Amino acid sequence: MLAETLAVAALVCLDPGHGTPLAIGRQREPIGPGSPVTKIKDGGGAPGEEEVVLAIARRTRALLLRRGYRVAMTRDGPTFRGGNIERARFCNRRGAALMLRIHADGSSDPSRRGVSTLYPARRRGWTDDVYGPSLRAARSIQRSLVATTGAPDLGLVQRSDLTGFNWADVPVVLVETGFLTNPAERRLLRSSSYQWKVARALTRALGPAA
Ligand SMILES: [Zn+2]
Repeated sequence: MLAETLAVAALVCLDPGHGTPLAIGRQREPIGPGSPVTKIKDGGGAPGEEEVVLAIARRTRALLLRRGYRVAMTRDGPTFRGGNIERARFCNRRGAALMLRIHADGSSDPSRRGVSTLYPARRRGWTDDVYGPSLRAARSIQRSLVATTGAPDLGLVQRSDLTGFNWADVPVVLVETGFLTNPAERRLLRSSSYQWKVARALTRALGPAA
């Protein structure tokens, strides 16, 4: 089903999380168009997250290109000079078939581990147009991640509060690829072989490009 969705445009917009300079990251932005609720642009993420998710995004790009997809990345270096509205707009402008946000988790409980996939809650005017394909992509990605990595399945998580979801006009999901606060998962996430494994899982989930 996702392959059919993607066949129309076949551009995947990869969005490795964080890497926002502090001065920009602490600025606030509305969580959705016209919303009085604001959130900071970037809280910085888990320790070391920005490097790990960039490495996974680059590997995913390599595999997607090999499959015939076009790929854009919100950042291909340590820094993204904007907030989540800018990230969403970057992918909107390119008419992405999917905005794939790549993150790693953190917790005060070091035993917590596993993968989850976040998708936007349905809200009229914000996400109703992208809700269905986003949920389908999330299901496919979560299934593939669990099957390929063997990581504990923390399931799908619907979110109404993520700026990067509410401003997206293209299908969007966010993968939490594991916990950097768990010693074993941290070691895996920082290894090239596991980064490739996650990249393979993400690529497989999207199916053929056309
Ligand atoms: Zn993050």
